[in-house]
Amino acid sequence: MWSRLREVFARELVVLVDPTSPQHARRRKQLTASVGTIFTLGMAAAMGVAPRSAFNDPGAPRVDEPLRMPDVRDQLDQLTDIDTDAVYVRQERMQRGDTIASLLRRLGVDDPDAQAFILKNPTARGLFSLNPGQTVQAQMDDSNMLVSLQANLGGDAATSRELVIERVEPAKADGTASYKARVQNVDNDLRYEMASGSISAGGFFKAMDAANVPDEIVQQMLSIFSGVIDFQHDIASGDRFRIIYEAGFQDGSFIRNGRVVAIELINRNQLHQALWFAPEGDSNGAYYTFDGRSMKRPFLRSPVEFSRVSSGFGGREHPLHHAWAQHKGVDFAAPTGTKVLATGEGVIDFVGRQNGYGNIIILKHASGYSTYYAHLSGFAGVQQGQRVSQGQVIGYVGQTGWATGPHLHYEFRFNDVPQNPLSIALMEAPVLTGKSRQEFLGYTSNMLSRINALRTYNVLTAAN
Ligand SMILES: [Zn+2]
Repeated sequence: MWSRLREVFARELVVLVDPTSPQHARRRKQLTASVGTIFTLGMAAAMGVAPRSAFNDPGAPRVDEPLRMPDVRDQLDQLTDIDTDAVYVRQERMQRGDTIASLLRRLGVDDPDAQAFILKNPTARGLFSLNPGQTVQAQMDDSNMLVSLQANLGGDAATSRELVIERVEPAKADGTASYKARVQNVDNDLRYEMASGSISAGGFFKAMDAANVPDEIVQQMLSIFSGVIDFQHDIASGDRFRIIYEAGFQDGSFIRNGRVVAIELINRNQLHQALWFAPEGDSNGAYYTFDGRSMKRPFLRSPVEFSRVSSGFGGREHPLHHAWAQHKGVDFAAPTGTKVLATGEGVIDFVGRQNGYGNIIILKHASGYSTYYAHLSGFAGVQQGQRVSQGQVIGYVGQTGWATGPHLHYEFRFNDVPQNPLSIALMEAPVLTGKSRQEFLGYTSNMLSRINALRTYNVLTAAN
């Protein structure tokens, strides 16, 4: 695995060094865009330098060049002609409770044949899968008959699945119109958005809102750092973040957000950086630190989901940790119903009720580890013997058994001996040792020095 990661870094390095390399075109764009933006904007902001444009800078050099005007007489003639083939375009948003009839009416389409086609054609019925707020565009002729219709059915940031319904030309001999429908993949225009800010006394989610970080990007951020940071208890006022993420556009209109490609978080003066890498031919990309450690850890830092609801609960104090040697675990205060997550991949060893624990789940993990989740208000449909993945919801916070208020009692055991779960952050992802580590560090320091060079270059560009 390390030799492959090293190759990835080496390849990225080549791409950084040789911008004309035809290989990995998309990832080159991704990497240079993320690295470029992260440092350009960051440094420009830090230096208080705003990029200048020739329009607002009277000192900027101007270019005077004679312009040849196109001959527009033909176009003017066309505009003033009475054109019986005119096509009108209209766009509408799906509304809650919309039917095909009500949608077509709002679009200004009055065409029973088209309506009948959409209702019975399996592909065209894809329109029914649209959510309220999604847009539908229709072209119609001057008698309000449908010429074509497009709707974006979904996809990812880079690609959209577009439903196209078209009238077949020419019409049938008896004058009735026929239609056809297809779904096609359309490339979106992929852009890199940047958001940055700092955590204030208002807390994590207020800071994310203030920096206009979309919810799905916040969720990715929580997931990327879930092995190293307990957002409920570790995040502090003054922490800073910078995020670069993909966003897909069509004809200048926002379609949807994609993946976080680079992220930086300074938590209590400790710098965390992660980059997304998807090795060529491997769809399972992951987040890595600059020194080549996977961001993934065998266990999550917190067994309770951090959300807008739970974030204000129990303050920013550390989890109740009272004499855990006798207590055997750590108590995480959270509202009843908060999702409880399997902190590591494993098998359900016990699910049910035990005296003081109330409703409890015990998970068995590899290498002699096990975890206990107690006082649950309910189980998330899990059964004994079932395999669960890291981060999977297994139950809900409650106060069953001997509990005075809603909280999760969490135990972390090694060979059935309780351990302090707050110390498991020390379990880092595997890292290279000996000679191979030296080789690896050589590659990454080389890459970092080039990124530093890029940083300097971009600062100069922004300042000039
Ligand atoms: Zn407890």
